[in-house]
Amino acid sequence: MFLVALIVVHLQGLAQVQDPVVDAIVKEATDNSQLEKLAHELFDGIGPRLVGTPQMQQAHDWAVNKYASWGISAKNEKWGEWRGWERGISHIDMVYPRVKTLEGMQLAWCPSTNVKTITAEVIILPDVTDSIAFQKWLPAVKGKFIMISMKQPTGRPDYNWEEFGTKESFEKMKKDRTEQTDAWTTRIKNTGKTNQTLPVALEKAGAVGVITSNWSRGFGVNKIFGAYTKKIPTVDIALEDYSLMYRLTESGTIPKISVLTDSKDKGVVPTFNTLAEIKGSEKPDEYVMLSAHFDSWDGGTGATDNGTGTLTMMEAMRILKKIYPNPKRTILVGHWGSEEQGLNGSRAFVEDHPEIVQNLQALFNQDNGTGRIVTISGQGFLHSYDYISRWLNKVPEKFKDKLETRFPGTPGGGGSDFASFVAVGALGFSLSSNSWLYGSYTWHTNRDTYDKVVFDDVRNNAIVTAILVYAACEDPSKTLRDKSVMPFNAKGEQSKWPEQRKATRKGGLDQK
Ligand SMILES: [Zn+2]
Repeated sequence: MFLVALIVVHLQGLAQVQDPVVDAIVKEATDNSQLEKLAHELFDGIGPRLVGTPQMQQAHDWAVNKYASWGISAKNEKWGEWRGWERGISHIDMVYPRVKTLEGMQLAWCPSTNVKTITAEVIILPDVTDSIAFQKWLPAVKGKFIMISMKQPTGRPDYNWEEFGTKESFEKMKKDRTEQTDAWTTRIKNTGKTNQTLPVALEKAGAVGVITSNWSRGFGVNKIFGAYTKKIPTVDIALEDYSLMYRLTESGTIPKISVLTDSKDKGVVPTFNTLAEIKGSEKPDEYVMLSAHFDSWDGGTGATDNGTGTLTMMEAMRILKKIYPNPKRTILVGHWGSEEQGLNGSRAFVEDHPEIVQNLQALFNQDNGTGRIVTISGQGFLHSYDYISRWLNKVPEKFKDKLETRFPGTPGGGGSDFASFVAVGALGFSLSSNSWLYGSYTWHTNRDTYDKVVFDDVRNNAIVTAILVYAACEDPSKTLRDKSVMPFNAKGEQSKWPEQRKATRKGGLDQK
């Protein structure tokens, strides 16, 4: 009996304790997690990280200091220049037919009203037959705010209709919405302008401001991008307030609003990537990279796009430095600038560092929200099955029980920074999260804030990332880059490997 019991204990021990480094990584990530503190400092303290803003610069400096405090060498590497701009206050009130403070904000790069509050009537972009009719109507915009977004037929997201509505009313709403959306697209097209050139035409004709409502198909969420106007404000207003003003206008009660937008132009400013490194002991010229874009849009605080990816990589680096300070290969992390304007920071890095890209064992990028990593694709690399499976095997089951792999997968042509590496045939992989309704609720929205972060999931991801990096560093063999044969599409054409695209090194300046 005694002997048998001993053997069982021993076997259980073997099954559980596979690798002391893995166990120590899990323990450090679980017992000494820095994620909540880092999130508070970055999202609440510094805030959103729009390219060219002082907050983006503060974030880069914060990250370098943070790495230094963990004994990791880090630096900010300049790759380009951007238009400098700093967001100020946005005050938007309806003052007629009654007073109501409206929920909304100026878009990124919005011009300042120079301390003045502008009060004027609101009109709707009319349904003109063609660009000649539009030009004829255009003088009517003088001294007015123009609403250029469609009025949504419902402020309820589809999942809410699906749960509580009858099948008939849900179908009817969707049909109405599709028709109205098509009609609005035609309305814009008939002006002879695009979504980008229309605000400029209104500005030139003497409008005092442009109003949009870019609803994100969830309760209380709008997507906040950049303004195209150069002198007058462009503000985005929440669906509820926007449709209120729209209905008032349609019924003949023309509302008046007061708008004050404050912002500072900062000229041309340098743009950076933050890079940090733990030098390899045996093969210092071979690299395993962690990757996440650092910048964000600025309607919220960029908490899940891509604050959570950023913190996953920072926390993994911190843990690795503590538990695995002498990696065989060099561990490098890239916190990229200006991903949102076209993967600019990572594309610039690929252009500027061929010596690293050529000797890249693997790169792990995370950029689709706060959720647990559930998919890893081989990105079209023929042998990815071999090494990714081997590395994943090191991850204890509870951290990957929902994780699916796709081999060889197809190479990603964009979407996030791993694609900058895949395009040149380097092994860039995406650690893809489950959704938490990322696309509608947090991606580029006004609600992408600290409270949406699911810290247990991010902790899980820091563990998975740290173990993958550890395993990739220890792997006795160098990874192979052979590409799989690309699939044929429905037309019988063979698809092509994505092409490398150049970084924009000087951006946003045409918007002045
Ligand atoms: Zn992102």
